[in-house]
Amino acid sequence: MADSIRSSLPPIYSHLFDAFFDRPKVVETRATCENCAMCDHGQASPVAMEFFNSETKCCTFWPILPNYLVGAILADPSPEMAEGKRRLEAIIDKRVGVTSLHVARPRKMSLLMGGYSEVFGRARSMRCPFYDDANPAGTCSIWRHREVICMTYYCKYEGGVRGYEYWTALKDYLSHVQRSLAQNAARSVDSNVIEPKFKNGTLTLEDMEDLPPKESDYAAWWGPWVGREREFYLKCHEWVQNVSPKDFARNVDGSKEGEASLRALIAKYERLQSKTLPNSLIRNARMREMHVGDKVVVTSYHRFDSFALDKELFEVVGLFRADQTLDENLARLKQDDGIELAPELIEFLFATGVLVEPAKPQAAAAGVSPEVSADLRARRAALGAVIEARGIEIDEATHGKIAEAEASKLETWIKRAAVARSLEEVLND
Ligand code: SF4
Ligand code: SF4
Repeated sequence: MADSIRSSLPPIYSHLFDAFFDRPKVVETRATCENCAMCDHGQASPVAMEFFNSETKCCTFWPILPNYLVGAILADPSPEMAEGKRRLEAIIDKRVGVTSLHVARPRKMSLLMGGYSEVFGRARSMRCPFYDDANPAGTCSIWRHREVICMTYYCKYEGGVRGYEYWTALKDYLSHVQRSLAQNAARSVDSNVIEPKFKNGTLTLEDMEDLPPKESDYAAWWGPWVGREREFYLKCHEWVQNVSPKDFARNVDGSKEGEASLRALIAKYERLQSKTLPNSLIRNARMREMHVGDKVVVTSYHRFDSFALDKELFEVVGLFRADQTLDENLARLKQDDGIELAPELIEFLFATGVLVEPAKPQAAAAGVSPEVSADLRARRAALGAVIEARGIEIDEATHGKIAEAEASKLETWIKRAAVARSLEEVLND
């Protein structure tokens, strides 16, 4: 079981999780954390890159550690946990973010994180308190007992979109597990301990000044556990250790949210392994594109996984039509333009989010008459989708022109739209 999903997760879950977790783990070789793929190593790039800070990597993030993982760190006697434990105990002693459910980030930090996406991976001031920079590789001092975000975040995915979706589904499932276990553990250890409630988006004076909560508030939340918080967290850990797989299956996996998120997780895992393709594909309309010489740098499924395509290929995939199946599109390109795309290339373009399944076709033209043939309707919808994919807005006059155009005219416009930057380039004869 050395390479199972189960073996890659913190040990507290080992006895609890469903048989699904015995399947082989997903390995992300492109996220080379020890030699961070997002940091500047002098690698060549067709456009200027905003590299991550090598003193932070992606750990510009303060985790929220659920009570039983806090207990797991405190209970772990291994030497490699000593540094993490020391840091955690210092936070507990400071009482900032220390509640019955979690050891959380300061609330001021949560507020800042609401608007820090542009400096993610770069702001030294946001570095996680458990990030160990004494180690030249920059490691995590609590890795074995890390929480859900730290378990599931990657900057790049071996399986592209499918990999991203798998890790997102795992994050959703584990978030549900964390929430359920932390709440039940706290309640079982002492149902009189109060979890503080704060108004969203507001800070107390103490939050602002990085001070512990008022003595009276803290005493009201923790009651007889003030000064014995470590003991409380250790008991929560012990409680989770003693949960039986049967109770976990019934109360956590068996809850409405648990069932749905576990089902979604298994489906995403299987989709990643099977590599099936949708019946129809078109170029991703939401992709960010930057034209540089004979290359187009695209950002499709993930903001930190941009890559360059040959301009010619970028334009060819723009010829894919939503009203045709993948096979029909490939046959048309071969017959009309002598273009052949290998199955491995199609797989790559789908995995990287350049080709996507079309959304339900929408009528491109306003006021399409009910008598219009299915073929014309499909061509008009396809033209609308291609124009939309180019990020060009269709005005009322153009809607009218599209609605009146015949098949051959629509075909010409679809071809032009695939490489056009404006409506004029599509419509002007
Ligand atoms: S996941 Fe984080 S540490 Fe790993 S390569 Fe990506 S940015 Fe670097
Ligand atoms: S807990 Fe570890 S992995 Fe998570 S942000 Fe902190 S240092 Fe990084």
